[in-house]
Amino acid sequence: MGRVCRECAAPLAGRSDKQFCCDACRTAYHNRKYREQWHDTARINRILRENRRILAMLFEAGVSDISLSDDRLRGFDCRYCTAVKRYLLRRTAYRCYEFGYLIAGGRICRITRYSDGAI
Ligand SMILES: [Zn+2]
Repeated sequence: MGRVCRECAAPLAGRSDKQFCCDACRTAYHNRKYREQWHDTARINRILRENRRILAMLFEAGVSDISLSDDRLRGFDCRYCTAVKRYLLRRTAYRCYEFGYLIAGGRICRITRYSDGAI
């Protein structure tokens, strides 16, 4: 089976390491890859911003312990955070930008705001 262009699947001739039939295909391929990567990055950034917004709202309201099923956490996605630190006794601390919290027993607890950048 012969080699084909990674963009348009046209048969390739010439050097064995050739991946594209022409410069236009090479450019189109890399532009598409870049757009796909940027799209995913933008999606994750939106989730992190929403998590941060919710943590800030809870912190400002004086809420430091809340059930994961509470309506005020609607839109919060536990799968995304900006840092994780594991402690002994299976305790794990999470950060979402300047906000720190624990997740235990179906609750988010000890919501804290840090100003020093440390976890
Ligand atoms: Zn091509």
